[in-house]
Amino acid sequence: MSRLREAAQATAVGVSALAAAAYLTAFRPRSQVFGSFPYGAKTEERVVALSFDDGPNEPYTSRLLDTLDKYDVKATFFQVGRCAQRFPSCTRRVVQSGHVLGNHSYSHSFSSYLKQPRQEIEINLSQDVFYSITGLTPALYRPPWLCHWPWLLRSLQHHDLQVVSGTFAHPLEIIQPAAAKLTDSAVKLTRPGTILIFHDGQEARGGPREQTVAAIGPLIDRLRDCGYRFTTVDQLLGISAYAS
Ligand SMILES: [Zn+2]
Repeated sequence: MSRLREAAQATAVGVSALAAAAYLTAFRPRSQVFGSFPYGAKTEERVVALSFDDGPNEPYTSRLLDTLDKYDVKATFFQVGRCAQRFPSCTRRVVQSGHVLGNHSYSHSFSSYLKQPRQEIEINLSQDVFYSITGLTPALYRPPWLCHWPWLLRSLQHHDLQVVSGTFAHPLEIIQPAAAKLTDSAVKLTRPGTILIFHDGQEARGGPREQTVAAIGPLIDRLRDCGYRFTTVDQLLGISAYAS
C-alpha cells in the first residue's frame, strides 16, 4: 500500500472517530461542548426539581398529578405536542394545577432531528399546539434524547426557548424497573439543585408507566426526610416558564 493511501486511510479513521465523538457528545446530559445546556442549579440549598418527559399519557399523567396534588409538590412536565393533542384536558390540568409546562418537541421523531428545516417545524408546531390548548407559550425546551446539536441550540435561541437538561432518575426508567429501584436511584442521585428526569410517557407512543407513578410518593417522602424542598425548573434556574 502506498504511503499516500495509508495516510488517507488514517485520516478517514480519524475523521470518523471525531464524528462519532461529536455525535455522542450531542446526547450527553451534562455536555456543554455545543453551548450552554443547564442540567441543574449551583446551590447549597437542598432544593430539587422533578420533571416528567414524553406525556401526556393517560391514565398515568393524571395519576401523577393526583400524587403531586396530595403531596402539594409542583413539578415540570416536558410534553410532546402530538400527545397534548391526544389528551388536551390533561395538559390543561398540568397548568391549572400550578405545574410548569415545557416543550418536548411535536412528534419526538428522531428523523426530525437530523435536518434543520424539520427541526424548525417541530418547534413551531408544538408551540402552536401548547398555545391553543393552554393560552401559554412555553419558554423551556427539553430536546428528545437530550440531543442538543449546535443547529438545534441555534433554533431554540431564535425562538427564545431555554434548553434544559437534567439527571436521569434511573438509567433504565424508560423500561420500568420496580418502583422501589427508581426511588432508590433518584434519592442517591439527588444533590442540591438537581433536576430529576422521569418519564410519564414513552416518546410519542404512550405505554405503561405504573412504576414511575408508584415511585414518586415515596421519593417525595424520602427527599423531604433528607431536608429537600421541591420546585419547578424555571424557579430553580431563575428564568421564565413562559413567553410574555
Ligand atoms: Zn423524550
